[in-house]
Amino acid sequence: MLPFTASSFYASRMDSRPIDVFAEAIWHNAATPRCKHFLWLTHHDRLPSTALLHRRSIIDSSACAYCGSYEDQHHILLQCPRTRRLWRLIGWDCAPHLTSFRDLWLMPQLPDSNARIRSAIVTSLLWNIWKCRNNLQFNGVLTPPQMVLRAASEDLKMWRHRLPHSVCPDSLMRIADSFVI
Ligand SMILES: [Zn+2]
Repeated sequence: MLPFTASSFYASRMDSRPIDVFAEAIWHNAATPRCKHFLWLTHHDRLPSTALLHRRSIIDSSACAYCGSYEDQHHILLQCPRTRRLWRLIGWDCAPHLTSFRDLWLMPQLPDSNARIRSAIVTSLLWNIWKCRNNLQFNGVLTPPQMVLRAASEDLKMWRHRLPHSVCPDSLMRIADSFVI
């Protein structure tokens, strides 16, 4: 039997933890750390939607500022009519019918290329949908979906420089250009 040490105890604990298969999509990603954190919050269902803040008795209503529906993160990122228009514009029509935002990583429209690029593309869309939602929620400003897509495109063009030199950014640039409608 091996002697007990702190490191062997830690290693055995880490081995017994369930593997988070989505962690790779969050951290193996050309997006900025701030966006990865946003993705991590979303993955753990902790995006501060009105539903979550209402559940914690921080605000009085759980209604979406755009359509009045119950606003959880699923509504914000996939189902709000405002978001549906954006998905339709880029031809991701089935996005509102997905059971989880994580299924966006399986969209056939994504380039069959580097995993960092695929994750960056989805993250740019989700991040800018979230920023658009906040602009309406806190500033009363409604951003047209074309502007949200343009912001996602600009993010992707900046994040291209965060890719390792060994990764060809062509497919990322093609998608970024296709978001300018
Ligand atoms: Zn809504």
